[in-house]
Amino acid sequence: MTRNETRTLETRLAQIGVGRDERTGAISFPIYPSATYRHPAVGQSTGYDYTRSGNPTREVLEEGLATLEGGARACVFSSGMAALTTLFLHFAAGDHLIVSEDLYGGTYRVLDQVFAKLGLAVSYVDTTRLDAIESAVTAATRAILIETPGNPLLGVADIAAIADLCRRRNLLFIVDNTFLTPVLQRPLELGADVVVHSATKYLGGHNDLCSGVLVARDPQLGERLYFLQNATGAVLPPQDCWLLIRSLKTLALRMERHCRSAIEVARWLRRQPKVTVVYYPGLEDHPGHELSRRQTSGFGGMLSFRVESPELARQVLEKLQLISFAESLGGVESLMTLPAVQTHADIPEAERRRLGVCESLLRLSVGIESVPDIIADLEQALA
Ligand SMILES: *Cc1c(COP(=O)(O)O)cnc(C)c1O
Repeated sequence: MTRNETRTLETRLAQIGVGRDERTGAISFPIYPSATYRHPAVGQSTGYDYTRSGNPTREVLEEGLATLEGGARACVFSSGMAALTTLFLHFAAGDHLIVSEDLYGGTYRVLDQVFAKLGLAVSYVDTTRLDAIESAVTAATRAILIETPGNPLLGVADIAAIADLCRRRNLLFIVDNTFLTPVLQRPLELGADVVVHSATKYLGGHNDLCSGVLVARDPQLGERLYFLQNATGAVLPPQDCWLLIRSLKTLALRMERHCRSAIEVARWLRRQPKVTVVYYPGLEDHPGHELSRRQTSGFGGMLSFRVESPELARQVLEKLQLISFAESLGGVESLMTLPAVQTHADIPEAERRRLGVCESLLRLSVGIESVPDIIADLEQALA
């Protein structure tokens, strides 16, 4: 075990890239914008040939992300959707995937409107229920993709139990870890094969960067993902790799604050007469609460809640002053969205209604502003 592996996650986050630029000793690892690299001689390479295939700044970021998730290899992409698209290109026409029904709308859209045409079949199931997953498996099933907690209803899936099922059925197990990050949940250690992130969210954390990540537990699968990344080319530019490295240094601190604030906001919301339901895994009576306690080290900064009527939901969004009515999540700034008309608009209406993603459901990404200020804004918006 190298010294790095014995260090805590918080330490490794703060230290990403430190000392890696041996020539200068730079604490902040430099941005290498070079598109290409001079070869020392025919048949020789410095280790870098062309920036799509390898870039020093991206390499520091990818190595950092691989160790944080406990994987063999990480690849970073120009968005979360680019990461997912590259991963789906691993499959072939005729393959079948099982995917969480409580899912990011863009993932549904690319599967439904792009990969369906290429012959990839998908079943959307309630992945909080193991029996539902098990009965969706067919001879053509190749993989299971889950989001846990789900989006926007925050249902919790049992990662270790699904990993066990995947081992028995020889399926690839993919976990979208965007909502919790490796600070709170490490799916590869619980038996998943691939972790996906929209790094636009908590990893980036400041609403100023669009990026995606894949991490593979196994070196061979890591090689395959690297092949796909290089072959299809949706890499993250070096400037953004540097910005993401800088963002990761404070990830542990930020997640701690997001968790601490979200539970307070969830408890406050629950006491409001105009709020009919609050979905947050940190609440003791959330159906996934006990499971979350076991498989995560915190409940995250995302919560959803229902208000009395669609009219009230619209009023809240229009009256917000501190919290921004905006898509996305995971940044230091609090954001609120109406999933039915924004992030999940591409999910057919009947399906949305069945899931309970209606127009009185609001999703809140609790930022790092002070809790009394966040609550005061919610209070005046609900009044
Ligand atoms: C935002 C998001 C994505 C897509 O990522 P982009 O960076 O927006 O392309 C995928 N999964 C989840 C859970 C997300 O929240």
